Amino acid sequence: MYEDELVQYMSELGQPRFRAGQIYKWLHSGVKSFDEMTNISKELRQKLVESCYISDATIEKKLISAYDDTRKYLLSLPDGEYVESVLMHYHHGYTSCISTQVGCKMGCTFCATGQSGFSRNLTASEMISQLQSEERDCGIRISNIVLMGMGEPLDNYDNVVRFLRLVSSEHGMNIGMRHISLSTCGIVPRIYDLASLHLQLTLSVSLHAPNDEIRSRTMPVNRKYGIDELLRACRHYCHETGRRISFEYAMIDGVNDSDACARELAQRLQGMIAHVNLIPVNAVSGTGYRKSKTERLSAFINILSRSGITATVRRTLGSDINASCGQLRRSATGAGGAKGEGT
Ligand code: SAH
Ligand code: SF4
Repeated sequence: MYEDELVQYMSELGQPRFRAGQIYKWLHSGVKSFDEMTNISKELRQKLVESCYISDATIEKKLISAYDDTRKYLLSLPDGEYVESVLMHYHHGYTSCISTQVGCKMGCTFCATGQSGFSRNLTASEMISQLQSEERDCGIRISNIVLMGMGEPLDNYDNVVRFLRLVSSEHGMNIGMRHISLSTCGIVPRIYDLASLHLQLTLSVSLHAPNDEIRSRTMPVNRKYGIDELLRACRHYCHETGRRISFEYAMIDGVNDSDACARELAQRLQGMIAHVNLIPVNAVSGTGYRKSKTERLSAFINILSRSGITATVRRTLGSDINASCGQLRRSATGAGGAKGEGT
């Protein structure tokens, strides 16, 4: 609930307005039960137990990288579903990469989550629970969030927007929008919707191809919203919000990593305030895709930068624990069968 919804609920229960503020703060401090709310009367706590629940995500499995302390979690939800999240430690603080859905409908051919099918949307509080489970487990505060775990955030638009507003609220975890990134495969109408909210978050767009022919082969969503339409929406987003867009480009050996692809990409992105993140693809078994060779990455960057497009190779954290989503859930549930690295 938003704080004003809680105020409304308290008034229905015949409670004073300030109770809402107290309860809101407790909820966002990460308590797991109403009994921990020590400044709330026993009677009211009992009423809350009978009419509400506090969302929780239980840690089922945890992998810790020996290289850089990145932690990957498999979390279970009360209905028996599993999601994954990853906690990364940077010099400026802790960044959490959380899931927005159980599975994904989008079916990208290189993605472990996409290959395992869709189960359900996550609620806003289930997204917050992932952060709280990590904070409790490590005794730390999370300062940055990326919506880049399992699922397509813009396919769960209302819950994701609710999550963004809750997590950035002053009496909530108070994580500013500028510390949040949302990654999308390109659901064009929802990019316009998001732009109209004028949130100061960073939008990452998973492009992964310079033309419709390659993109439609690897990302089925492109058959509905082609690259021209997608980039038009991105330009609109930049114009409305004044924010630079970051384009994700997974480099797949022999598929999208040629010089010609780099030139085509540079041409497409001309005139945009954009940044390209190149990511050597994580090989997911069953897909037959392999990482591009290192010299391809440098050639690609050179071509882009000669055209004035800034590009970097994304630093890989947690490489020894495959800190990428889709695969822990796969092995826990058997979803999608084959084992392999995720996103
Ligand atoms: N559904 C959203 C966010 C979750 S996926 C999206 O697609 O943007 C997070 C990122 O991981 C996306 O950029 C996605 O394209 C990328 N990704 C998926 N599978 C990958 C793989 N095997 N290797 C590298 N990146 C991958
Ligand atoms: Fe879904 Fe993103 Fe994976 Fe595509 S890359 S299947 S949109 S999670």
